[in-house]
Amino acid sequence: LLSPNGDLGVTIFEEITALAAKHQAINLGQGFPDTDGPGVFKAMAAQGISGHLNQYAPGSGILPLRMAISDHQKRFYGLDVNPENEVVVTTGATEAIAAAILAFVKPGDEVITFEPYYDSYGATIGLAGGVHKTVALNAPDFQPGLTELRKSFNARTRVVVLNNPHNPTGAAFGRELLAEIVALAKQHDCLIVSDEVYEHLTFGFSHIPIATLPGAWDRTITISSVGKTFSFTGWKVGWATGPAELIAAVRTVKQFLSYSSGTAFQPAVAEALASQTGFFTDFAKDLGDRSEVLAKGLESAGMTVYRPQGTYFIVADVAPLGFDNALELARQMPEKIGVAGIPLSVFCHEEAAERTRTLMRFAFCKKPELLIEASRRLSLLT
Ligand code: PMP
Ligand code: GLN
Repeated sequence: LLSPNGDLGVTIFEEITALAAKHQAINLGQGFPDTDGPGVFKAMAAQGISGHLNQYAPGSGILPLRMAISDHQKRFYGLDVNPENEVVVTTGATEAIAAAILAFVKPGDEVITFEPYYDSYGATIGLAGGVHKTVALNAPDFQPGLTELRKSFNARTRVVVLNNPHNPTGAAFGRELLAEIVALAKQHDCLIVSDEVYEHLTFGFSHIPIATLPGAWDRTITISSVGKTFSFTGWKVGWATGPAELIAAVRTVKQFLSYSSGTAFQPAVAEALASQTGFFTDFAKDLGDRSEVLAKGLESAGMTVYRPQGTYFIVADVAPLGFDNALELARQMPEKIGVAGIPLSVFCHEEAAERTRTLMRFAFCKKPELLIEASRRLSLLT
């Protein structure tokens, strides 16, 4: 009677962040920047609160934000998104993902994700009663095998959840693979839910939204949020874009998850999205440089490093240091050496957890001096 629905437990992010705080460790676990986004947007959000933006926003978000999201999709990707009915503002990308899955997945429907997969996909597929199928992403490049990808689709497939660029591996998926996913989705008449929260955090190339591929728009819900691009992960403002019928379904579910999202933040997010292009490219360049600082540090600590193409994260293998279980190591590291990381196995089902047993994810969205100090401490592991 008292057991909750599903076996969800405490997320690994909460567990490791609590350990990091307890031992005052450098937290390269949970993905959040140690420097806030631009002060001008913080001031706008503060003004919203000291002014009059303290009551419910419209369920789909304030119109100026929906217009800014639409303008952003046009400016960067050439996509025409109607701000009236093809955008819904959500409480972070997390709510958009949950609402999209809950809107379309019925008990018994199959949902495909790429494994390792972001933890909320598994949880929400479970809450919807869906059957979770996975396609493996393996080191060193973390690209899916086409044969396995094709085999994972069948008549029961309802949704394929794409995350590009990909957390936790840092991989990005190119046009050819995206075209294959669109073709498979068409062939099996299923929906694509594309989580693109790291769309601007790519190193040396431009992100390709799957919705821009021929034939994709009609069956794709694209999701992003303010958190990663603008270093405001705590604001929890996200959005979904796509054809009106799909967005209406997401909005319907959202009514009963949160009804509406942080009013005071919304004008500031609209302003942020209208930033000059240099803001986006400079931030990605800076982040790419920091990924290299950490990559070199992890290598000199003796780990095998898989360099990311984007995101906040880098994957390293701790096997060369003599450890055979990254989950156990992650639980010990904050106390032992004052550094926190996230084991890749927590983004996997049991079978794949074995495959990723010695892999650890480290966040590099931190000050370079902190990354260098963390690397020094990690070198003490051996
Ligand atoms: N998707 C991915 C792949 C993520 O890494 C995260 C966490 N940052 C989210 C969704 C959640 O985003 P938000 O904080 O906007 O809810
Ligand atoms: N997306 C962040 C990460 O992957 C964490 C967000 C959360 O704590 N749920 O680290």
